Amino acid sequence: MSAQPAPRRPSDADPSDAGRSGAGPTEADPLEPDTKDWTWVLDRACPDCGFDPREHGPAAAGPDLATALRADAAGWTALLRATTDPAPATRHPGASIPQGVVDPRVRTDPSRWSVLEYAAHVRDVHRVFRERLVAMVEETGPRFADWDQDAAAREGDYARLDPRTVGEELVAAADAVAAVYDTVAASPDPTVWERTGVRSNGSRFTVATLGVYHLHDVVHHTWDVRDVAAAVTVAAYDAQAPDYRAATDRLDEAFAPLLDEVAARAPGGQVLEIGSGGGRDALALEARGLRVRRTDVTPAFVAMLRAAGHAAELLDPLLDDLRPHPGEPGGADAAGPRAAAYDVVWANACLLHVARTDLPRVAARLAEVTRPGGLLVATLKEGEGEQWSVHGTIEAARRFVLWREPALVALLTGAGWQVERVGRRTGARDTPWLEVLARRR
Ligand SMILES: [Zn+2]
Repeated sequence: MSAQPAPRRPSDADPSDAGRSGAGPTEADPLEPDTKDWTWVLDRACPDCGFDPREHGPAAAGPDLATALRADAAGWTALLRATTDPAPATRHPGASIPQGVVDPRVRTDPSRWSVLEYAAHVRDVHRVFRERLVAMVEETGPRFADWDQDAAAREGDYARLDPRTVGEELVAAADAVAAVYDTVAASPDPTVWERTGVRSNGSRFTVATLGVYHLHDVVHHTWDVRDVAAAVTVAAYDAQAPDYRAATDRLDEAFAPLLDEVAARAPGGQVLEIGSGGGRDALALEARGLRVRRTDVTPAFVAMLRAAGHAAELLDPLLDDLRPHPGEPGGADAAGPRAAAYDVVWANACLLHVARTDLPRVAARLAEVTRPGGLLVATLKEGEGEQWSVHGTIEAARRFVLWREPALVALLTGAGWQVERVGRRTGARDTPWLEVLARRR
């Protein structure tokens, strides 16, 4: 078997058509050429973004495809808006990351496009795929014209476009092509999925494979900007931390049995709390005799917890050292290394902000610092894809990664956890939540 390709990104709608270089800049340093043929994504999962075409076959390609395209487009608008316009933040002394700090026009990594450039590219991907899709539906075996994405970026002057306009155009373009997929899905003739189109290199797409290819392309680009989405989300909490704390001050009584169970199974135990936020859950855990290490990735929450007299740490579970500190139970002493000694990891409504492809690593890192038999409690929103919230608990834009139970259980199992149960809970605004209780193997 040949080596798995390790491409940096899907290059464009027709990677092998034009033989052009990769996603290039309009004026800055040219990016490394990307001449790989991306049609392999039709056969196996993408090693980068995790998109698995087998979950989007013809049977699933109808409404799901259109819905996924529209949801992805909504995410781009939210990201562009959040990075362009200042949020209606209630500023406070603890806020340290200004909203909008990630300028969508700026390349944070010189070898990659800016958010704006990616968004303009995604807009044009939707437009190109719509043309091809319509041709396949209306004509017999049409041959696609070449589309050179570098030329499109240059001629379209992506880097100088207005982000808000691009956001609107992207949504319109996604909606237009999604409407065609909707029409295909609604057609009484199922063979319409098998209608073909031919690329200039001679390879053949069907409507079904074109749809999967199209969806991967945009999903992959959303993956490309995942770090910006994470930074925007932290900035949202940072700007509106007091509002968030006020809105989430009361613990849902439905949580009491779970808290009681955890306290009974790990009496007096040491808890690593991820995403302590306003500190509500830590108090409830301590009231049941547990000891809690409070952490959050948002500086304002850490500042608020400290102001309230608690020890609290700025900690990113993806990157930072999670092991207990010296002096903590299981922490280092002069004699030896620090052990994995937490009895409980508590992660309520926080891991849903971790990018999908990063969560396995986060789960494994949490397992590493938990003693065998120790518990993990995590709650995440249930659903497909990603979702941006610009209302609700706070108004500033936050990115949520939605999960389905099978994928979540598989991920945790692979990371060293034995999932004991997955409960369901309906939260505010009828949001479905998954509540996971797992045990360290
Ligand atoms: Zn991908």
